[in-house]
Amino acid sequence: MTRPEPPTRLSCHCGAVVLELWLADGFRTARRCDCSFCRRRGAIAVSVKLPDLRVVQGAEALRLYTWGTGTAKHYFCGTCGIYTHHQRRSDPTEYGVNAAALDGVNPRDLGEVPWADGVNHVSDSAPR
Ligand SMILES: [Zn+2]
Repeated sequence: MTRPEPPTRLSCHCGAVVLELWLADGFRTARRCDCSFCRRRGAIAVSVKLPDLRVVQGAEALRLYTWGTGTAKHYFCGTCGIYTHHQRRSDPTEYGVNAAALDGVNPRDLGEVPWADGVNHVSDSAPR
């Protein structure tokens, strides 16, 4: 498999954590979410397949937050508190990454970003 190069870099605010990732779909998956967690965090997330993201620096600085079903894994820098990425609950084969933490991205340039319906999450209505 050939990948576009170079990879996109993502960094937290203090610089402890650096990720490299491949945005296969560009910003087409950019969204906000109104679930109880995301509405507080307020970040725009964009999707990346699990194998297309790697932590190149600061893995030890990352903290993990989970709640509820524990499916979604939200990572943030333990020093500056910035959300870097999370393993998605809707699709655990993907990460969501903090679009505004990508090198060279000003979230203002993303314009209107659609909202995902986190209040009525598909995983909450699935049969057990
Ligand atoms: Zn940091």
